[in-house]
Amino acid sequence: MKKLVSAGEILVEIMAERIGQSFLESGPLLGPYPSGAPAIFIGQAAALGQPAGLIGAVGEDDFGQLNIERLRTLGADVSAIAVHTGHATGTAFVTYRADGSRHFVFNIRNSAAGLVGIDAAAQSMLAGTDHVHVMGSSLFSDRATEVALSAISTVKAKGGTVSFDPNIRREIMQASGMREALDQVLKQTDVFLPSGNELFLFSSAGDEKGAVDDLLQRGVSCIVLKKGADGAAYHDRHGTVALPGFAVDEVDPTGAGDCFGAAFVSFWLRDAAPVEALRIANACGALAVTRKGPMEGIFPLAEVEAFATTAGKGQP
Ligand code: ADP
Repeated sequence: MKKLVSAGEILVEIMAERIGQSFLESGPLLGPYPSGAPAIFIGQAAALGQPAGLIGAVGEDDFGQLNIERLRTLGADVSAIAVHTGHATGTAFVTYRADGSRHFVFNIRNSAAGLVGIDAAAQSMLAGTDHVHVMGSSLFSDRATEVALSAISTVKAKGGTVSFDPNIRREIMQASGMREALDQVLKQTDVFLPSGNELFLFSSAGDEKGAVDDLLQRGVSCIVLKKGADGAAYHDRHGTVALPGFAVDEVDPTGAGDCFGAAFVSFWLRDAAPVEALRIANACGALAVTRKGPMEGIFPLAEVEAFATTAGKGQP
């Protein structure tokens, strides 16, 4: 089976317990939960049985250990997660507003997460890697961008492939050169996984079809547009496949896009038909929102299959 790797921020997430709760005053918190978009992605891919590894950095502290243990339990290769002394593991504090939007307070760049690099362990992991997945949020500094671009060029040089989720998090993506970095990744992308309006980041077209055509012309092999509770649509040169979302009670949207992307890419790497990859990805995205905590809704393949079969009855 093909191995996939991602590189970037490893965090713990701590969330406000009540919707509308503000961090301007003390209040009850939940967590810590293991998190970081590339970590969620790799954890979900591993849970689906895909060989998957993460390049990143944590501090020598409980939060770092929590992340490494969770990823290891899910079956991920954690050999390229560096443990640093002198820096604490990255954190994200999140509050949910009444309108459903989220507000984050991140500590990434100045935490151990900011020390991500290609050391000997990462080099050795990349030597055995067929596919690199890049999260836009992982381009949070020049150093982190260099890691992503270097992973892409190592894997592309031996005929590998790349997937890219813009995962725009304005709170952390303020680095100068961000736009250029996103463009450089897109140029080398085979599978593009935007969510909602992120489809229009690289196209001035006014509608979905126009933006998709632009991207296909620029060399992207396929575009998978995530549409929250409405499911997702797959586009390539041959046409479009769209599937509705599975009906679930959403308790926490964080991590849905990462779990969705991990499932889609894992099945794409197995040469599954787009409709099958989309079905499993929709199931993983739906399951992800049913649990509080970004990685708490990651399930193994057998449970995802069982959910998709049961919940999918009556769907087209
Ligand atoms: P992102 O987290 O990247 O913004 P989305 O919110 O579109 O992405 O969620 C990713 C995928 O997760 C969706 O395409 C869908 O398959 C699934 N999903 C998300 N929210 C729900 C929901 N409320 N009900 C069912 N499925 C959902």
